[in-house]
Amino acid sequence: MYEMSRKKMIILANSLPVRSGGHLTIKKFKNKQMKTIIVFLFAFAINHANAQLTTPDTIVTSQGNIIVQPVFHAALVLEWKGKSIYIDPYNGAGAYKTLKKPDLVLITDIHGDHMDIKTLEALDLKSAILLVPQAVADKLPGEWKEKTVILNNGSTTEQSGISIRAIPMYNLPDDSTSRHTKGRGNGYVLTLGDKKLYISGDTEDIPEMRSLKNIDVAFICMNTPYTMTEEQSASAVLDFKPKIVYSFHYRGQGGFSDTEKFKMLVNKGNSSIDVRLKDWYAGEK
Ligand SMILES: [Zn+2]
Repeated sequence: MYEMSRKKMIILANSLPVRSGGHLTIKKFKNKQMKTIIVFLFAFAINHANAQLTTPDTIVTSQGNIIVQPVFHAALVLEWKGKSIYIDPYNGAGAYKTLKKPDLVLITDIHGDHMDIKTLEALDLKSAILLVPQAVADKLPGEWKEKTVILNNGSTTEQSGISIRAIPMYNLPDDSTSRHTKGRGNGYVLTLGDKKLYISGDTEDIPEMRSLKNIDVAFICMNTPYTMTEEQSASAVLDFKPKIVYSFHYRGQGGFSDTEKFKMLVNKGNSSIDVRLKDWYAGEK
């Protein structure tokens, strides 16, 4: 039932069996009030279910499995070799209650859906290192300075046995009108054992993405007018050919992007790319 959409619930409420002339028949409720109550109860059930995170995935590496846990929008958690890596934690600490506390927190940019100070403050960051671009470091509370490592475009660092490279993320054209100017935020490439994971950050289909090599798992943004259209995301993915791609950060000004269309476009061009559509908004408060 938790998987059922609100539309399906309303259809169901409209066709619940009612007794008529001693027989059980399916017919529309005449009683509007009853219908409202039932829809309300179903809606409550949906909202309750939304407190749950979507099921995590497992990616096999030469040094143990990576658990990929989508959290919300661009927020995800990777667990590997006993280490927990939080990316762009967002939308309150509640969603993280059942997850291991972070060893590493990667932040891509200064916008509130990526650098969410309230959520960061509510998490247990005692043993965490924050890995951020300079523009984010400039905005973090002073008491986190000691646990912050600054990484800018083109640089690589090693933290908790994980190699992390920062790569550009920006809008096109790359000029002063850009919502995301080149050099401010970071996309990240993480090496976990023999697997390379790419996290796009908020970006368009820039040459630095199109020319990535040997990416096993990619997390690709797709929302307008902030990042990419379905066509842009698919076209970039077809260029750098990750083995697995997750569409994430797919809600924009006009609602959700068409993730099914993205999958269709990618697989039309290359049927061997494993396009994974998960519910990145299941944990919404
Ligand atoms: Zn964003």
